[in-house]
Amino acid sequence: MAESMTGLKRTHRCAELSEANIGEKVTIMGWVQKNRNKGGLVFVDVRDRSGLIQVVFEEGSTDKALLEKAAKLRSEFVVAIVGTVEKRSGAVNENLATGAIEIKPEELRILSESETPPFPIEENSKTKEEVRLKYRFLDLRRPDIQRNLMMRSRVATLARQFMAKEGFLEIETPFLIKSTPEGARDYLVPSRIHPGSFYALPQSPQLYKQLLMCSGFDRYIQIAKCYRDEDLRADRQPEFTQVDMELSFVDVDDVIDINERLLAHLFKEVLDIDVQLPIQRMTWQEAMDRFGSDKPDIRFGMELVNVTETVKDSEFVVFKNAIEAGGTVRGINAKGQGGMARKKIDKLVDFGENGDLILFAADKNKVVWDVLGALRLELARQMELLDKNEYKFLWITEFPLLEWSDEQNRFTAMHHPFTMPMEEDLQYIDSDPGRVRAKAYGIVLNGNEIGGGSVRIFNQEIQSKRFEVLGFTPEQAQEQFGFLLNAFKYGVPPHAGLAYGLDRLVMLMAKQDSIRDVIAFPKVKDASDLMTEAPERVDPKQLEELGLELEEHTADAE
Ligand code: ASP
Repeated sequence: MAESMTGLKRTHRCAELSEANIGEKVTIMGWVQKNRNKGGLVFVDVRDRSGLIQVVFEEGSTDKALLEKAAKLRSEFVVAIVGTVEKRSGAVNENLATGAIEIKPEELRILSESETPPFPIEENSKTKEEVRLKYRFLDLRRPDIQRNLMMRSRVATLARQFMAKEGFLEIETPFLIKSTPEGARDYLVPSRIHPGSFYALPQSPQLYKQLLMCSGFDRYIQIAKCYRDEDLRADRQPEFTQVDMELSFVDVDDVIDINERLLAHLFKEVLDIDVQLPIQRMTWQEAMDRFGSDKPDIRFGMELVNVTETVKDSEFVVFKNAIEAGGTVRGINAKGQGGMARKKIDKLVDFGENGDLILFAADKNKVVWDVLGALRLELARQMELLDKNEYKFLWITEFPLLEWSDEQNRFTAMHHPFTMPMEEDLQYIDSDPGRVRAKAYGIVLNGNEIGGGSVRIFNQEIQSKRFEVLGFTPEQAQEQFGFLLNAFKYGVPPHAGLAYGLDRLVMLMAKQDSIRDVIAFPKVKDASDLMTEAPERVDPKQLEELGLELEEHTADAE
């Protein structure tokens, strides 16, 4: 039977206690991790978010009723214990922060009982992820996940504090917005009051933060939820969190400067790691040529080498055909195929020594880069060159403004439609749009793009031109983005911004492999939530109110 905690007040979290508290009377509250009954001697480990402490109920020193009550405790019961901190009578447990002390109890209250949990609450759980996610409220009790979420909270707090000191204002932007083609597919929300009309959930606060600049707020930050209705690739979430910022009267270097200092601050405070500033920069073109990727992992070498010139007279049909079709031949030298010192591999630049493994790809540049970029990472994985304790940052700059989409048979925005072209390339915007570079940048950490942004167009003519290149008629541009184009009529400060993927950043800081391990309630690959079972069918009455009707096959599908 559950007891009340009336009259008790928690004095410490379990693992906040140390030898400094010996002799003190304390009250702890938490979950029973483990109960070992040795007959006349009951050891109970109590857990809260800080860690564990051992409580020892002993015949003779503890009264009999209390000993019997302690013997009845089971895993995950919630208890309150009043007692005195003592030096451990048994051996010190070196693996436990509180391993040198224990509590001698004088009062025990069972605040809540627990059924046997479906899996043990323990670090590095072997339980399948589907089961853990179904019982996420229990899974979240595990110390490793708790540490991840505590780290996430700290990162968010530190980022807010740092940015506030730099003069940034935290301003919320709406969740129910107009559907605008920003890149990905929108999540739509039907309107009851306007039957047949829909809001979209924001893919990012992009347009609002630009409008805030138009309104004169100057420096904006928000930790914002973003929604993208995409087929989920591994390690993507339909809703995710950005640390989103926008600044007025700045250019690329200003944004880079503030973000380098922010990253250095976070890594110092959270991990005690000194990030060497300035962070290395590389243009997009160089990154592609050297690493076959716009988010290269530079913890190891094995760079790509372009051998098109060398093999241009080769009779080998694969090379020949590729070159004739305007493509290139490039290779990676995986020298010695492993077992080789890291430094040596980094030094590899020339090809063809005996015993090396040389991998070539010949095709259009994009294909060659994709293939070799992926191969390079796979080799590094196999050769165990990826060290999670090493953090290598890199800025990628001068992204192309547009990329060709075979699927849509037109150019699409590489970043988003509000990115400023580089002035010196504006001349090519009609004649050779693919050649125009953008004032866009991305910050890469160990092969992950953790953030990206750009200087924005703040001129109505360039913005209209930009929409035109993207295939919008002036009427369509007005209809979709009229509010932005209107704002641009009334005095716009030059502005630029950047957004971090907070989930991925924290994942890397916490040395986890999946962003699900740093999100309290993540969804799985098919975008469903295994705990609440969302998305779910709704009451026909709700649909009726919204003026929606389901097609037969949708209604029947389960
Ligand atoms: N809104 C952009 C994004 O979500 C980031 C930015 O340009 O600030 O990628």
